[in-house]
Amino acid sequence: MSGVRRFAPSAAGDFGWDGVERLRYKDEGLAPFRDITRQVLFAQPDQDCELRYFEIAPGGYSTLERHEHTHAVLILRGRGTVHLGAREEPVAEHDLVTVDPLTWHQFRADAGCALGLLCLVSKTRDRPQLPTEEEAERLRRG
Ligand code: MN
Repeated sequence: MSGVRRFAPSAAGDFGWDGVERLRYKDEGLAPFRDITRQVLFAQPDQDCELRYFEIAPGGYSTLERHEHTHAVLILRGRGTVHLGAREEPVAEHDLVTVDPLTWHQFRADAGCALGLLCLVSKTRDRPQLPTEEEAERLRRG
């Protein structure tokens, strides 16, 4: 639908686009994550992609996962860290993070700062794989 939507804080203080429903990041208990909301900004029948916005509250994080499909992630606001493959990198507003197939990735907001990111993803995509406890420990150690 043609239109202009404004990016603004909600009453709760997290940012997002007015008039776009704020959804759970994923179903509770499906995978570990903390303090994230999700908005689907653009998903149309003629497009094979979806544009989503995730806002991670201070100290929150996305699920550590990997999958065959790729991501393009544009940091829109705040600061945090991305775990990408075997390394950790600080990220801030306007950084572009690309994630190749089967690359472990996780986004974390800094303790004192939210992290908001736009994520472009294919509409048809495989399910994320989660690390085993052993893999997760190895990834944490780097
Ligand atoms: Mn992912």
